[in-house]
Amino acid sequence: MKRYVIVGASIAAVSCVEGIRSVDPEGEIVLVTAEAHANYGRPLISYYLAGKTDIPRMSWRGADFFEKNRARLLLKTRAEKIDAQEKRVFLSNGETLSYDALCVCAGSYPFAPPFEGIESVGRRFSFTTLQDALALEETVTGTSRVLIVGAGFIGLKCAEGLRDRAGSVMVCDLAPHAMSANLDPDASGILERHLESNGITLALGDTVERFEGGTAHMKSGREIAFDVLVTAIGVRPNTALLKDAGAEVNRGVCVSERLETSLPGVFAAGDCTETTDVSAGASGVLAVLPNAALQGHAAGVNMAGGDERFDKGIKMNSIGFFGLHIMSAGTYTEPVLEEVTDRTSKKLYAAGGVLTGFILVGDVRRAGIYTSLIRERTPLDQIDFEAVKREPSLLPFGREIRKKKLGGVV
Ligand SMILES: Cc1cc2nc3c(=O)[nH]c(=O)nc-3n(C[C@H](O)[C@H](O)[C@H](O)COP(=O)(O)OP(=O)(O)OC[C@H]3O[C@@H](n4cnc5c(N)ncnc54)[C@H](O)[C@@H]3O)c2cc1C
Repeated sequence: MKRYVIVGASIAAVSCVEGIRSVDPEGEIVLVTAEAHANYGRPLISYYLAGKTDIPRMSWRGADFFEKNRARLLLKTRAEKIDAQEKRVFLSNGETLSYDALCVCAGSYPFAPPFEGIESVGRRFSFTTLQDALALEETVTGTSRVLIVGAGFIGLKCAEGLRDRAGSVMVCDLAPHAMSANLDPDASGILERHLESNGITLALGDTVERFEGGTAHMKSGREIAFDVLVTAIGVRPNTALLKDAGAEVNRGVCVSERLETSLPGVFAAGDCTETTDVSAGASGVLAVLPNAALQGHAAGVNMAGGDERFDKGIKMNSIGFFGLHIMSAGTYTEPVLEEVTDRTSKKLYAAGGVLTGFILVGDVRRAGIYTSLIRERTPLDQIDFEAVKREPSLLPFGREIRKKKLGGVV
């Protein structure tokens, strides 16, 4: 019987169990996670704070997932060292696990630059785990003035989650726009107006120079008083475990399309990895949930002796704030379509005759179709726009493909 060890018990890890079990119903599976909770939808932590969900409903694959899949789960336990020669993992609880195949699904960690005076701030938090949400729930009261540093999607989701709990919520960011890593200024502008009309105060183009207790001294010279601080500057892939074991690592852990690292018998999946972004034709960290799930599944299948590839990865983001839906994906090259109103923005980008990216705000219809066009690298000149008008779902299929696969009827 084969022994599988998985580090992490979140999206990629759970999908890895599903991948293994699709090939090997018998093998022994052990998962190790540093967190006190496993198998929950990480993007739901802001909905938990907002009181829109509870812990049982946040379960990603159901409360009995590990039991049903005959997988042993070790909570609050860290994998501290991997001996890839001897095929063993050393744990923080003193246990040593030997494996035939190992998958590291270690995700990412919140990164915060060393702000001057940060140690003088009494109540400071990150916002990447359910534990963070529980701690904020306990701390924030109706009179708390919350300052969030970072107007990326994590900081803004935290702001949304806290709005009705806190006295006030302010988000600052050195970048001049909200979610500037994902959106263009038109899209950000719509989002910023929407956030402000929903009670979030933004201080963009400005950030903290130093903290002094409950006061943030800003670059602009402004002073902001707060009771609770959340740093949401960004996340970095958790690569140390594999790097120390001798695996090849760039920004993320380098893996093949089969999710194999450079160490024999050792796989990696999810936010800790670096894989090819087909929209850019380059390698990058594609840290979003759908990629983590696909990678985890493929890794599991391959660990158990099957063959599954992850070769259609792209950056993407699907998110909503106070009812405003936003979807973006791929690489923003040459704009080929731009439709902007007060409340909606639609931009499509192309290069070399294929769609490379899109940004949709307010109206996200057809996002699935655009995503598929990018993933499949469908040549734009193959698209029969007359047929698409009749049946939009055909858009991802070029004329040639339709002829071959659909018998030329459409
Ligand atoms: C607030 C928030 C909102 C988000 N919203 C969206 C969204 O709307 N759409 C989207 O696509 N994505 C979203 N994401 C990103 C998404 O949650 C991640 O892409 C996804 O969770 C990645 O899954 P993963 O399994 O690779 O890693 P993670 O979910 O990060 O899990 C990794 C796990 O490994 C554990 N671990 C790490 N090192 C060790 C070790 N040495 N020993 C034991 N355990 C270890 C960690 O504690 C963690 O539990 C959001 C993330 C956050 C924080």
